Amino acid sequence: MNNKDKSSKVNRRDFFKLGSLSVAAGAAALTTLPKKVAAQGLDKYITKDLIKIHDDFPAEVRGDYVPPRNWDHVQARSFFVDAVKAIGEDVDDDIVADGQAFIQKMNFAYDNSKTGYGQADKALFAGAWAMNNFAAGPSPAGIPDYGVNSWEQKTEKNPHALFDNDYVVKEKHKFNNQQEAANHIKRAARLFGADLVGITRRDKRWDYSKFLNPIPPIARKAFAGPPTPEQLEELKNWGPDKFVTDWSSFPFVPKTVIVLAFEMDYEGISASPSYVGSAAAGEGYSTMAKVPYQLAVYLKNLGYNAVSAGNDMGLSVPYGIAAGLGENSRLGQMVSYKYGPRVRLAKVYTDFDFVEYDKPKSFGVMDFCKNCMRCADSCPTKAIS
Ligand code: SF4
Repeated sequence: MNNKDKSSKVNRRDFFKLGSLSVAAGAAALTTLPKKVAAQGLDKYITKDLIKIHDDFPAEVRGDYVPPRNWDHVQARSFFVDAVKAIGEDVDDDIVADGQAFIQKMNFAYDNSKTGYGQADKALFAGAWAMNNFAAGPSPAGIPDYGVNSWEQKTEKNPHALFDNDYVVKEKHKFNNQQEAANHIKRAARLFGADLVGITRRDKRWDYSKFLNPIPPIARKAFAGPPTPEQLEELKNWGPDKFVTDWSSFPFVPKTVIVLAFEMDYEGISASPSYVGSAAAGEGYSTMAKVPYQLAVYLKNLGYNAVSAGNDMGLSVPYGIAAGLGENSRLGQMVSYKYGPRVRLAKVYTDFDFVEYDKPKSFGVMDFCKNCMRCADSCPTKAIS
């Protein structure tokens, strides 16, 4: 932070107290605050008396709430529309059109006369997304069990493989206590590249109840090797009746979810919407393909089952809140303690449970949102209440 920034630093307590003032005052404050606050880290401005630790999930869950299926995710519906229709569900025409327009815009066109959409911007976008596309494929659209997010847990090590990432080591490592276990896991997650780490209990409310996965098993592995006769036979019989699965097909009963957050590039996000903005998001997605996978392999080598997930498997926002990484907001995004909503979230599901769980914490965001309507006012489709 340079001296000029320091002199204009906003008192964070005042920022949150603005929530109790008028909407106009709150909105005015938001127009001047984000650049300084978002670029420097929210945590520098949050005083201890603003932080509340909660024993339970810190938001009301409607009585009629039922966990969604992964194809309730709008991108699963729009990107996998044929598969959704093949299992007998209608897809709204607007969703299909939006999905196609998004793909068209992001995958085919560049325009050197348009700032942020030129060939160099498109190249940045393609490079940023590359690792996600290669390793985690459809995870951003909520499709699980692909590439690094494979559900496979091998009980026998491949004798020809020096490193066999699917193998779960037979001996279970014992930590001396739960805090030590949490420290080790968080240290590993940070080493692999997580900016924020929280550990919470698995909560079925936040998991997808059913999974659409139209990709045949033979095509789900990044390094599949030559197909076996069984795989070729399975491919012959592959069809919509096999597209949907649920937790009964999952290889173990998860007890713990480790939630990881990755900061997205401030300058890139500031350039949204553009290829540059999408490059910042894409880099987040590529990191989501790397770090949780490494953490899952780490857990497997401690002797525990583990599956990594990006947007697939369950809802990252309530898991992030439950794991103490941030607070709910009117926007529907998790506002993290340090980076605000400028994060991407990922998860690791494991059956390891001898670990100190984090508690949710709030620090005034929802109080502020009660009066600030900036996102709702500026949402073009009025989707934010
Ligand atoms: S989430 Fe929306 S209402 Fe809440 S502070 Fe941000 S802009 Fe304002």
